[in-house]
Amino acid sequence: MDASTPKPQARAPARPPGKPDVELLPILIAPHKTLKTRARPIAKADAEAVRALIPRMFASMYAAPGIGLAAPQVGALLRLFVVDLMPDNKPQPMVLINPEIAAASKETAIREEGCLSLPGQYAEVERPAHVVIRYEDETGARRQVEAEGLLGACLQHELDHLDGILFVDHLSALKRNMILRRLAKDIRQKETKNS
Ligand SMILES: [Zn+2]
Repeated sequence: MDASTPKPQARAPARPPGKPDVELLPILIAPHKTLKTRARPIAKADAEAVRALIPRMFASMYAAPGIGLAAPQVGALLRLFVVDLMPDNKPQPMVLINPEIAAASKETAIREEGCLSLPGQYAEVERPAHVVIRYEDETGARRQVEAEGLLGACLQHELDHLDGILFVDHLSALKRNMILRRLAKDIRQKETKNS
């Protein structure tokens, strides 16, 4: 991210990220039905569940390690994701609840993406180069972030997860099937090694 990029409005989570006593959540691997399911908006009644989920999602994301993790990836079909690009190796955690794309540029950018739900798989994905995303933070305050570059791609990637969309869904069927087959093969090989 270059210096002209607006800084995201980050807030520290309720507990420090990656605190060792936080129980890690298993991350679902594609193909999994939950990863293809649209998540529901978070309501006031979800506050307690969300408060419990956020530190566990951060801990699981940092442990993976990853820079973004959406609730459906840990089996919770709620419109919530966490992101931390760790600029200069310093934590900069963001929690986005009920996020929506308020504006997206016509201009697109291509970046290589990977996903904790498709471990070891990477592909170039084309997305709007610049986005404005409205969301609520973990206190319920309405916020807005303008992003491009890595953060822009990451926010769009995570938001896609809330709609049951994986980065491979932006590729041709040929490329997508190749990646999914390679992933299945990698997993089979790992299982054989471990058994
Ligand atoms: Zn992902």
